[in-house]
Amino acid sequence: MLASDHPARPDVLLEFDDLGIRFGGNQAVQGVTGRITPGVITAIIGPNGAGKSTFFNLISGFYKPTSGRILFGGQDITKAPTHEVVRLGIARTFQTTTIYKELSVLENAVLGHRVRTNSGLWDALLGTGRERRQRAASTEAAHVALARAGLAGQEHTLAGNLTQEAQKRVSIAMALATEPKVLLLDEPAAGINPEETVNLTRTIRELAAGGLTVVLIEHKMSMIMTLADHIMVLHHGQKIAEGSPQQVSRDPAVIEAYLGGHAEPHVKQAATEELAAEQAQIQGGHHA
Ligand code: ADP
Ligand code: MG
Repeated sequence: MLASDHPARPDVLLEFDDLGIRFGGNQAVQGVTGRITPGVITAIIGPNGAGKSTFFNLISGFYKPTSGRILFGGQDITKAPTHEVVRLGIARTFQTTTIYKELSVLENAVLGHRVRTNSGLWDALLGTGRERRQRAASTEAAHVALARAGLAGQEHTLAGNLTQEAQKRVSIAMALATEPKVLLLDEPAAGINPEETVNLTRTIRELAAGGLTVVLIEHKMSMIMTLADHIMVLHHGQKIAEGSPQQVSRDPAVIEAYLGGHAEPHVKQAATEELAAEQAQIQGGHHA
């Protein structure tokens, strides 16, 4: 067991305080403070280049912050190596689908488990007894993950032969294979059609209903509005708003961030009406 910095609070899974990272002169994320509540679906939105993916890279241990800290279950993980962050229960997908197209769906999920949980691959190379036990454990975890990602029955299909949507599911399964407590999804619906988006939305909702805490970055408003319990808005690396979908979509700072300071008033009005219409449509859909 690792020592805790704070007693774990049941209402907070992940906490970040004054989180920031600078690349040369570019402050990509700056002073972001907040928390992820267990069992809540959190969406992170913001214009292109706002720092959303960088924020994921920070909380998943891929980048080390130049300021601030990150606590997971009360434990300081700010400097923890990626495999340790994964082992503690944080898994993520990448904005560009990173799957092995020449391997089977099952092999992808097995690799998702192994690559992310193994700090050394000596056992694999030497074929030790421990290696055989690990391989069995990875295969077991992979089958469970594929079922949760909606890919049962496709284990032996070549990943490259799947539809875009199914390839997205493979990357989700690779993350699920590490048995996470929180799943970070970076634009899961990018590049798939509206019908596939609805199906993927349903799977994400089922994962959340099963107890997984989901944080997603998305541009598709329909997906955000149907999934998110809570929205955090980034702009120029800073958190400019957060709250319920209704609160955030009415927030003048958010509307400004999306439209820019120079948009004509009638353009802003049209965009606001469009958003309201989309929301009404989605709410109508809920009752259907
Ligand atoms: P978003 O996901 O919101 O579209 P990103 O987080 O990808 O935005 O990028 C935010 C900013 O951080 C951009 O200016 C981007 O160029 C910069 N950035 C991200 N990663 C790196 C990196 N590894 N090196 C240098 N700059 C980076
Ligand atoms: Mg991004």
